[in-house]
Amino acid sequence: MTRLLPVTGPEDPAIQEAATLLRAGGLVAFPTETVYGLGADGLNPEAVAKIYAAKGRPATNPVILHVADAAAAQALVSHWPTEAQALAERFWPGPLTLVLPASERVPSIVRAGGPSVALRCPAHPVALALIRAADRPLAAPSANRSQHLSPTLARHVASSLGDAVDLILDAGPTAAGLESTILDLTGARPRILRPGPLGPAELATLVGPIELWEGAVRAGEVQAAPGMAERHYAPRARLELVAPGTGAHAVSGAVAYVGLGSLPPLPEGVRGILLPLDAEVVGARLYALLHELDDTGFERIFMERPPEDERWLAVRDRLRRASAKELP
Ligand code: AMP
Ligand code: MG
Repeated sequence: MTRLLPVTGPEDPAIQEAATLLRAGGLVAFPTETVYGLGADGLNPEAVAKIYAAKGRPATNPVILHVADAAAAQALVSHWPTEAQALAERFWPGPLTLVLPASERVPSIVRAGGPSVALRCPAHPVALALIRAADRPLAAPSANRSQHLSPTLARHVASSLGDAVDLILDAGPTAAGLESTILDLTGARPRILRPGPLGPAELATLVGPIELWEGAVRAGEVQAAPGMAERHYAPRARLELVAPGTGAHAVSGAVAYVGLGSLPPLPEGVRGILLPLDAEVVGARLYALLHELDDTGFERIFMERPPEDERWLAVRDRLRRASAKELP
């Protein structure tokens, strides 16, 4: 059985133990402010290969390196533009990942063979303490099987990855609940590859106009950015997005209906779940709710489509992917 160690804060001795495992090439799942990450020594290709094996992650999907500060990030890139400096000063530690030209120090497997590297300084005190104790960048994608729901609780990690992990650090539920915003700084203009807790408007105040990679907001036919497969973040249950207030039609079986702001009348037997019409709260609770509905055995989940405005960008993106049909 995988060991699950509770951690109370950055001084907890469990962190030293986890760092020792990481330095020896092991896998340690740890909390960040977004979701739980599956960590390995980011400069050790064999250790990073274990992440891919544990997750069943395609080799074409690169991983994010987590660093303790901007200085550590600079040591991993061949060019650190002024935009990166400004964004790091303002938003690190925080849920922002920057894609930059990689230095030779970054192993090919981390970059999925490409020329760039994704870097983030997480805001969780346990994550920061772990990176410092390990004294190296940590590769850490979300700690779940590829394409499945991301973990917001330590036990989500245990049930998704089981024995593939050497140790899980348990610091309770994560705060933001959705994966970081990914901003690509390698092109002519900053471009969002994955919407997240930090929206384009907040980023634009520092770096000017920002492009949205269209696959990040719309259904894309092609996978134009690495790892941006259409179906992702998916529960076991079939998730369908519906117009607000439409109820769960004439369906039977184990069905849940998630309303935003209010609940319409529902057919008998359908479980109604009310979430507030608040993008941040829904973002924080979405994965935990989908995990819970899966664990309870719901076969179908109807969820009301969120509003079209920018505040809902990240939640809309995850819901669209989670409800996408299986690829052939
Ligand atoms: P996760 O598995 O949740 O940590 O997500 C990591 C995501 O970061 C990947 O799926 C990619 O979309 C993105 N990413 C990581 N490295 C790069 C890179 N060098 N260039 C572009 N996107 C990247
Ligand atoms: Mg993931």
